[in-house]
Amino acid sequence: MMSKRDYYEVLGVEKNASEDEIKKAYRKLAMKYHPDRNPDDKVAEDNFKEVNEAYEVLGDKSKRSQYDQFGHAGMGSGAGGFGGFGGSGFEDIFGDIFDMFGGGFSGGGRSRRPQKGQDIRIKVDLSFEEAVFGVEKEIKINRNEDCETCNGLGAESESDVKTCSNCGGSGQVKVNQRTPFGMMQTVKACDVCHGQGKIIDKPCKTCNGKGQVRKERKIKINIPAGVDNESVLPLRGEGEPGVLGGPKGDVYVYFSVKPHEFFEREGNDIFCEIPITFVQAALGDEILIPSLDESKKKVAQIKFAIPEGTQSHQTFRMKGRGVVNPMGYGKGDQYVKVKVEIPKKLNDDQKELLRKFAETSGQHEIHEQGKSFWDKVKGYFN
Ligand SMILES: [Zn+2]
Ligand SMILES: [Zn+2]
Repeated sequence: MMSKRDYYEVLGVEKNASEDEIKKAYRKLAMKYHPDRNPDDKVAEDNFKEVNEAYEVLGDKSKRSQYDQFGHAGMGSGAGGFGGFGGSGFEDIFGDIFDMFGGGFSGGGRSRRPQKGQDIRIKVDLSFEEAVFGVEKEIKINRNEDCETCNGLGAESESDVKTCSNCGGSGQVKVNQRTPFGMMQTVKACDVCHGQGKIIDKPCKTCNGKGQVRKERKIKINIPAGVDNESVLPLRGEGEPGVLGGPKGDVYVYFSVKPHEFFEREGNDIFCEIPITFVQAALGDEILIPSLDESKKKVAQIKFAIPEGTQSHQTFRMKGRGVVNPMGYGKGDQYVKVKVEIPKKLNDDQKELLRKFAETSGQHEIHEQGKSFWDKVKGYFN
């Protein structure tokens, strides 16, 4: 992965900067590096992109918290990444920037501005094991793509596309308006070509002149180990096509993880309840219990030593036997809660043995834990 500058560093703000501070810092830098102000300046262009990318994340609450938790890896790019979902704060502030320029830089008029394509959200069902160990899945997305017949032109041939004579191809016309301050010239989208700047004589029959067709695409995605119901996997540039040369939208993959038969999960920790007999609890035993086997990517059985004198509902922590952090570092723990089962049916021999056991430990004598409880009860009523 390419080394990337910290987003806070890019915007020159502190980690605890307020939303307002971030917005201000972004505006200042976006103005400074805006391509209209720095024509043909590659460095400024790169800075502009970097600043926009940083703001796209830090300007969005959920993306920012994802970034704070997981860093750049948390935002990801392409199928390997992993991140949070954000709204369209980018577009909003982009509009503001243009307003600050007074529309002077790009000729004004929002309709002609390149816009990022729409994002697509899809939900993928995962089993507990798939979420815990990671899995490669094929997903289907429906999106618009350039029409293959006309290569996105929308017309039967190049010569069928005519520059709009009403606006001269700009898609905009100037209109004079009478205002309290006198005559003012404003810009609006051309009525003849609806802001497109061109008119198509013979529309392409495949796409009816739209230049795009709806396609179902299958994409293979690598779901990293450790994802959960709150996880979102962004697939950059896999969304709807941009408008007027704007970048493609993104796909956000959400997960719905099915509950497991005997494991419960809380973050990266897993929990299970193991029934044991009262004899195993009293004498101790070594048993096999289910646990996660990272190397085999499945639930396996591992040895577990029940200590002598284990109490019912006692919980044991098995460090590092939980779920891997989806960012690839650190692991959760497994918590094993034992439930001591008292036999409901005993045969005569077994009953006899237990009576003997009671006699050897003194009839009616109660054990430590019980004693303190009954002592408390006695004290309460005295
Ligand atoms: Zn026109
Ligand atoms: Zn077409």
